[in-house]
Amino acid sequence: MVKRIGVLTSGGDAPGMNAAIRAVVRMASHHGLEVYGIKYGYAGLVRNDMDKLSNRSVADIIHRGGTILRTARSAEFTREAGLLKAIEALSLNEIDGLIVIGGDGSFRGAMALSERGIKTVGVPATIDNDIPGTEYSIGFDTAVNNVVDAVNKIRDTATSHERVYVVEVMGREAGHIALSAGLAGGAESILIPEDESCSLSELCKRVVRGYQRGKAHSIIIVAEGFKPNGEDVESPGMYVGNYIREKTGFETRITILGHTQRGGTPTVMDRILASKFGAKAVELLLEGKHGVMVGIRGNRIVSVPFSEVFSGHQEIDRDMFELAEILSRP
Ligand code: ATP
Repeated sequence: MVKRIGVLTSGGDAPGMNAAIRAVVRMASHHGLEVYGIKYGYAGLVRNDMDKLSNRSVADIIHRGGTILRTARSAEFTREAGLLKAIEALSLNEIDGLIVIGGDGSFRGAMALSERGIKTVGVPATIDNDIPGTEYSIGFDTAVNNVVDAVNKIRDTATSHERVYVVEVMGREAGHIALSAGLAGGAESILIPEDESCSLSELCKRVVRGYQRGKAHSIIIVAEGFKPNGEDVESPGMYVGNYIREKTGFETRITILGHTQRGGTPTVMDRILASKFGAKAVELLLEGKHGVMVGIRGNRIVSVPFSEVFSGHQEIDRDMFELAEILSRP
């Protein structure tokens, strides 16, 4: 029977992590469980850096981006000695269940603990939305909304000047942010790592055709993991912008959104998702289920074994990609 649980946030921060921590603490308290907040992810666990959390200590955080527990990456934890120290810290504090809020790297750590007998449950939180087994991860919706806000502003100035605007967004391995923001923001083109057939000369022709048909501007969304003409470049946004300028002669402006995408108050969708995920993670521990991640599929909150998470791949939605292309035709 679980009596005291630990919660930590690990890897990259994502807006909505605080709402998840709040849900864990309050659902646990509802069931008479104690909660310890572990600071700085696995780094804090290894050095036994944790404090008891109460319903009061998670007041006034649901609307805040980032994570009150802080987050870190820990190389020490990935080694046997570090893992043993983490297990010792859990035992010292009589913690019998652990909730890990983070991305797939963090879940590999959770699985390592799980294999050593620690009851662990993962809560997916990463703006990249690239975790297999769940349709959405905490932070993705906020990040996409942040990108769309920026695109709206760029659109106003773009219409006045008849320029080409290239916007580089996060997504080193996956184009989920670029695709959703591109469709919702009405971008003319979306360049993602998954689209290996994308040709920049075709893109230039498309831009020229758009202007010939009276388009006032072109907005092109580029994921940071996009490889222009198959090449690995430092900033694909910069590369694509310069390429269009050289080949078409159009004035081109390049915006790299960077960390602005991660910040800000979480959207309603992320707060609700985080609240449901956090609560479900506690319930799973109470039901004796662990070695799993919570997730959402077809609007249902589910649990997914870690083994399934690591064997899958969060594919890009090809139908949505095609739809965005059709709807952007001038
Ligand atoms: P994001 O994708 O948003 O950056 P993440 O959870 O994938 O989040 P990582 O930096 O990959 O972030 O992982 C976070 C931490 O999880 C690492 O610093 C490490 O301590 C632990 N970790 C990652 N991979 C493993 C592994 N194979 N075994 C044990 N621990 C791991």
